[in-house]
Amino acid sequence: MVAKNLTLVNERIEVALKKRKFSAFDDNVKLIAVTKNHPANVIAEAVSAGIIAVGENRVQEAKDKFEVLNNLDVEWHLIGHLQTNKALQAVKIFSLIHSIDSENLLLAVNKAAEKIGKVQDILFQVNLAHEESKFGMGEDDLSGLVEKALLLSNVRLCGLMCIAPFYDNPEDCRPLFKDMYTLFCKTKKEFSSRVDLKYLSMGMTNDFHIAIEEGANMIRVGTALFGKRQY
Ligand SMILES: *Cc1c(COP(=O)(O)O)cnc(C)c1O
Repeated sequence: MVAKNLTLVNERIEVALKKRKFSAFDDNVKLIAVTKNHPANVIAEAVSAGIIAVGENRVQEAKDKFEVLNNLDVEWHLIGHLQTNKALQAVKIFSLIHSIDSENLLLAVNKAAEKIGKVQDILFQVNLAHEESKFGMGEDDLSGLVEKALLLSNVRLCGLMCIAPFYDNPEDCRPLFKDMYTLFCKTKKEFSSRVDLKYLSMGMTNDFHIAIEEGANMIRVGTALFGKRQY
């Protein structure tokens, strides 16, 4: 089931890349398979189907699965909101944390990573004015927080992430994705001599084709791979 869905998702990725009207900085798209609310055996199945990275949105849930699957050759990504008091658990599990959105959280993750002798890869979650989302830093805070991240030894800033609101018509996400890509390119350029911002993480089942057309090179897809989640 997952293997068949993965083929369909990969086809959608290819079509979207062909429809991209400009040459983005990176024409590869990294697929994060979002396994939240699915049991550990689904992750194992996804990995045998060729998935190389899974996304979870809660630390505790990821920890439970990670303990069962810790020999599995897969990257774990945290895509949901992180509380500072879970930073230590998070750095033990995740290869990339997508959801850093405040100075406090940045410092907590740096400190936790230092404690276990790790340099933690992170993305900054940005919340542009058109979004209703509770989390994410404002555009105005971005440059200042990048500066701060560059002074820390145990985090490595790898790019930006955003969560678009759900629209019935995914075309409605296009303006947000365009603005995110513009902001990403501007930030990448501004700091290019000091850090290589590689990833723009945006797009989910409903809208990832639009996100790719507008420059995303990391997408987070759950439903299209695993079906509807049971809550
Ligand atoms: C759940 C979730 C996804 C995946 O959503 P689907 O619509 O199932 O593809 C992607 N990103 C984040 C942050 C999520 O919480």
